[in-house]
Amino acid sequence: MDAGTFEIDGSSAIVTGASSGIGRRIAEGFAARGVDTTICSREQGNVDPVAEAINERDDSGSVLPVECDVRDRDAVEEMVDRTVAAFGGIDVLVNNAGGAFKCDFDDLSQNGWRTIIDINLHGVYNCTHAASEPLKDGGGAVINISSVRSLEAAPEETHYGAAKAGVNSFTRSLASEWAEDGVRVNCIAPGFIATPGAVSVDDTDPSDIDRSNVDRTIGTTGEIADVVEFLASPAASFVVGETLTVRGVPQHSGEPEV
Ligand code: NAP
Repeated sequence: MDAGTFEIDGSSAIVTGASSGIGRRIAEGFAARGVDTTICSREQGNVDPVAEAINERDDSGSVLPVECDVRDRDAVEEMVDRTVAAFGGIDVLVNNAGGAFKCDFDDLSQNGWRTIIDINLHGVYNCTHAASEPLKDGGGAVINISSVRSLEAAPEETHYGAAKAGVNSFTRSLASEWAEDGVRVNCIAPGFIATPGAVSVDDTDPSDIDRSNVDRTIGTTGEIADVVEFLASPAASFVVGETLTVRGVPQHSGEPEV
């Protein structure tokens, strides 16, 4: 193995949806490893305390908090401009912002459908498209956060599953288009991860995960951040256009073996 290929220090990044959950943990990990990181969410008041807490630590990477709704193209472009001005470029874009709610398909309104597609899929387009130039300048990495719901039946989440499946497809196609520009585009499809968002959708309280429990059916935000750090690093140089499932122990259907 080449020495140092897992190193990402000195890079600059954007992590969307980083006021809580997985995005916040990715930003914390990046800062600890020397990556200057812009974090965004829909409310400045939600990202300010996150940035303050990280910047107070002795990390070598610093954090810039920006209010940006990923559905708003003007706001996304301003976030990209501010990142380039602050950190000199963008090496890594983590499209993490997302949202979900459960609803039977028959009761799903046009507004509900559009909202979920807008945040989870259109937001990925907006941020990646707006950051295209700086990402290609020197060759970067895009890491999209999808979901296992994109890979299997997702009853009550047709809207969310469809949006995330779009993200998987976007990942593979763009990875092919941008390969010659030196930009690697990959995706992570997490299983159930203990976050405020997951609690609100699944009505589960995963606040205390016992990792000594080898069952591994609920993951931690750190277990997603670790894979993000790998995909952002040169160690993943031959990983292109993939959707990596990070879900713990695979669930089996209970059907008899044939
Ligand atoms: P979370 O705790 O609810 O965090 C979601 C983040 O996205 C928050 O920081 C929220 O900030 C931000 N956000 C929401 N809408 C936004 C928008 N339009 N523009 C900008 N930021 C926005 O959720 P999470 O569980 O960490 O999920 C993170 C990602 O992982 C999502 O893409 C989710 O679909 C995916 N995922 C999660 C799980 C899981 O079990 N947790 C499983 C599979 C996939 P504000 O509210 O402050 O705007």
